[in-house]
Amino acid sequence: MDTILVSNRVAEPSRTGAVSGGLAAVLLSAVRTSGATWIGASGKFAPAEDAHVPTHSKKLGAGTLTMVDLPVTDYRRFYNGMANAALWPVLHYRADLLRYEPEFVASYRAINQIMANVVADRARRNSLIWVHDYHYFMLGEFLRERGFAGPIGFFLHTPFPTKSVLICLPEHRTVLKALAAYDLIGFQTDEDLLRFRDYATTKLLATLIGQTELQFGDRRVKLGVFPVGIDVDFFAGSARKNVDSNKINRIKRGLHHGKMVIGVDRLDYSKGLPERFAAYERFLTIYPDERKRVSFLQITPPTRSAVDSYRRVRAELAGHAGDINARFGDVDWMVLRYINESFPPDQLAALYRVSKVGCVTPLRDGMNLVAKEYVASQDPDDPGVLVLSKFAGAAKELNAALVVNPYDIGELAQALYRALYMDRVERIERWSAMMKTLRGGNINRWYDGFIDSLHESATSLLPTASYSVA
Ligand code: UDP
Repeated sequence: MDTILVSNRVAEPSRTGAVSGGLAAVLLSAVRTSGATWIGASGKFAPAEDAHVPTHSKKLGAGTLTMVDLPVTDYRRFYNGMANAALWPVLHYRADLLRYEPEFVASYRAINQIMANVVADRARRNSLIWVHDYHYFMLGEFLRERGFAGPIGFFLHTPFPTKSVLICLPEHRTVLKALAAYDLIGFQTDEDLLRFRDYATTKLLATLIGQTELQFGDRRVKLGVFPVGIDVDFFAGSARKNVDSNKINRIKRGLHHGKMVIGVDRLDYSKGLPERFAAYERFLTIYPDERKRVSFLQITPPTRSAVDSYRRVRAELAGHAGDINARFGDVDWMVLRYINESFPPDQLAALYRVSKVGCVTPLRDGMNLVAKEYVASQDPDDPGVLVLSKFAGAAKELNAALVVNPYDIGELAQALYRALYMDRVERIERWSAMMKTLRGGNINRWYDGFIDSLHESATSLLPTASYSVA
């Protein structure tokens, strides 16, 4: 079986072979070993606004990476506009941050169409196509229009919101009814699947068959839940190996036997960073003795800085971090280290391991891999404690964490204190329960599980044209 993976960007391994993120690693390993092709934007642009776009392919093991140069105007409206300023906020329940222009959806269609053409040109009769994430809701429909009749799956990495939020998006039906072209639609959690089912039956007039199938006109689509996992052995091994590196030893010495709390998040308003800083401030106010015992390391690489809402949260956080250090810091103690830089995963693993608390408090998150990575990186004899938002998909599996409501600043401040002083027996008990779950849901299992289900769900397909919603 010839497998084609499609996502917004293709991750390329660096010269050292390191890749950032477990998902990229597993997709690359599928390319390398099983001979899959991974297609995505190159980050460079086509010279003209033309449907015939340049592509560059390179071999990787038994498979191929194909990078596509997309037309600049459409790509910017598709990526900065439709994907990051319209779809992302709505999928994360932030309709207040939604920005929409009619050209966004036009360019979204155009890019989905162009990518579908690239995929269709490479697909064979026996290909299986797996499309990733909200950038390409419509790609399957364009593939069917090109006559591709093989299995096409779609996996949504983000949450699927409740329909009352989703309908704030203009043209939501145009975009989401295209999902009828897929054979299998995968979600991170049961709740995401149920909310999609509710939206599809009420707003797209789909008919529910059993619990996990939808009939759209004469097409039948299977729904499934596939929580994304991590490479547990990679994080456990890297943490063990790097925890005594010079850099980590310097950090440990700088703590003077104090304790470190860590947060690692892209600079995104969905990650609950202002609330987290407010909770830390509250903690330092309620427990003044902790001001010289605790240091918070917040690693936050900036992203999507072309979008206003991201620039605003960045400015807000920089100001807030400065205030906290000015108010609670001392000449010989940094209460908060706020770093706008990206770290490679093997270094993150060691930083997770030397941190007594992992603070993962998004306001909404499809899964949140950092929560899983923090747990996998701990010392089995003396593990740290995960403080986890109940609004992260990961909280469904990692319910042995200290699960908090990230909007409740007081609760979060108390949870930090409880985590810092939790006794070893309770820490080991909670950590062992979470590790068992993580080992059961390893990233390779997630990949194979989705592909196997897609094989099973692919039915003999009829044209999608018979399905339309006003
Ligand atoms: N990450 C990284 N270096 C950094 C910050 C993050 O490699 O400096 C990785 C992190 O290890 C995780 C991913 O980026 O694998 C973030 O995934 P997550 O699901 O937590 O959030 P997302 O960014 O996908 O919303």
